[in-house]
Amino acid sequence: MTTKDAPHAEPEKGLRLLRGSGINNKSLAFSPEERRELGLRGLLPARINTMDEQVQILMNTFRSKSTLLDKYIYLMDMQQRRSTLFYRALIDYMSELLPVVYTPTVGLACQEYSHIYVGGRGLFISEEYKGEIADVLANWPEDDIRVIVVTDGERILGLGDLGANGMGIPLGKLALYTACAGIHPSYCLPITLDVGTETEALRSDMAYIGLAKPRTRGPAYDDLIEEFVRAVEKRFPKALIQFEDFGNQNAFRLLERYRHQSRTFNDDIQGTAAVTLAGLLSALHMTGKPLTDQTILFLGAGEAGIGIGDLIVSAMMEQGMSEADARQRCWFVDSKGLVVASRTDLAEHKKRFAHDHAFVSDLLSAVEALRPTALIGASGMPQTFTEPVVKAMAQMNAQPIIFALSNPTSKSECTAEQAYTWTNGRAIFASGSPFPPVTLNGRVIVPGQANNSYIFPGVGLGILASEARHVTDAMFLAAAKALVAQVTDADWSQGCIFPPLTQIRQVSAAIATSVAEVAYASGLADFPRPADLRAHVIAQMYDPRY
Ligand code: NAD
Repeated sequence: MTTKDAPHAEPEKGLRLLRGSGINNKSLAFSPEERRELGLRGLLPARINTMDEQVQILMNTFRSKSTLLDKYIYLMDMQQRRSTLFYRALIDYMSELLPVVYTPTVGLACQEYSHIYVGGRGLFISEEYKGEIADVLANWPEDDIRVIVVTDGERILGLGDLGANGMGIPLGKLALYTACAGIHPSYCLPITLDVGTETEALRSDMAYIGLAKPRTRGPAYDDLIEEFVRAVEKRFPKALIQFEDFGNQNAFRLLERYRHQSRTFNDDIQGTAAVTLAGLLSALHMTGKPLTDQTILFLGAGEAGIGIGDLIVSAMMEQGMSEADARQRCWFVDSKGLVVASRTDLAEHKKRFAHDHAFVSDLLSAVEALRPTALIGASGMPQTFTEPVVKAMAQMNAQPIIFALSNPTSKSECTAEQAYTWTNGRAIFASGSPFPPVTLNGRVIVPGQANNSYIFPGVGLGILASEARHVTDAMFLAAAKALVAQVTDADWSQGCIFPPLTQIRQVSAAIATSVAEVAYASGLADFPRPADLRAHVIAQMYDPRY
């Protein structure tokens, strides 16, 4: 079965159709014949709209909402009641709607989630269901689930522990799977694991929807995750499990435990890594320098930074470097200073990048000591790429590569304008949150956005199309290269290292084909290899139309 002919509920009629799952609800676009056949006469007013008109009306209403939260609530209501129209609009107005469905507005929505809560949108698996998770999964009405995004709410974006309010994240990410890669909504399942929250303000809020208790940790937590993964494998044997916004002490551990035995990945670590590696390779296309000549300095040694470092090491090894040499090319500064071998306070995931070097406590000293060609910020600390730091990079490099990835915009290590101004337009810049183009000395420079949405939907589609049993680093490497292959000379000539988001479905199809190719080459695919893999991938893509 393909995504396109994914199961739909038996055609609903009358009021149940208008109030039902939303996928078949065309509202005022029902024709007179359909209104007669489906028992809708009188239940709808006289006007008949085309889908294009409905998209325009949706956008007008969206734009008329005065707050971002109101815009979010409106879109989520449309997703629930008229989902075909919602996905059409999301695809057609991606650049405008994405920042509301996902970052940055989704962060605000998560903070307010208990107060704007609407039921029926995903599964909450609380630790009180321990021993019965299979029964809870059985309550979900769809049997053929292909993508699960699951969070435990501990590290929601840069906002900290939001507990069960984190549900906005799986909902948003899955909307992007559908819009960006055409994975049918019926294949998608958002899940929040509720093990409590450390955030006292939530626990004492009467409206808080989750367990009002401190987080469960240790063996009881691990047992819950284990039961969850095994129950998913049984009930939804073709499902990909994407771990999302777990705290970093759990994220790295769970990734290591499950990546080689289940169909799973962590987007904060691996998706971020692939989009940033793509950005780096694309920047190197502009500088003309080889990857293996780069020295990369990271500010922030968490899920994003270490994930990126690991994938850059894999990419360098693919180009013939030894692992040890490749690791020597990646350096980290964390909240204490340079990550070096003599430090005794390093978390496990940092140790593989702790090199022999004198300790320095600040970023500028690290830049001066290591003379990096690229500076990557994933620290969550705004304005840490100061003027002296960026100017030092510009003194050492004709085209310094500067990625300020921290989200939201207010947390960015520096702005696009600062990076370009302080380097006299020579920086190759990308950020986590979007920045508008900058005009400098009469030239318009378009900053790139290292948006994970370039990567994870395509990876998910490639897994779905090939029914790959695991998600490997080789797949993320292939995804990064496929993304770079979509960047054009027109993009580069404007200083932009990513393709426009308007091309996202084409990008996702290319990534999915490359990922599926790796799955077949490595013997991980369960779906018989089709003669034309690209055509097979594209045939899976749901195109929301009446
Ligand atoms: P994390 O909590 O796992 O890691 C944060 C790291 O920053 C830790 O190593 C911490 O020690 C370090 N840090 C804190 N204060 C610091 C300081 N003053 N100087 C240097 N280092 C400091 O978080 P994460 O998941 O790695 O995310 C980090 C940032 O990256 C967030 O702002 C997030 O929004 C951003 N991010 C961007 C993308 C993207 O652009 N596509 C993707 C994922 C994460």
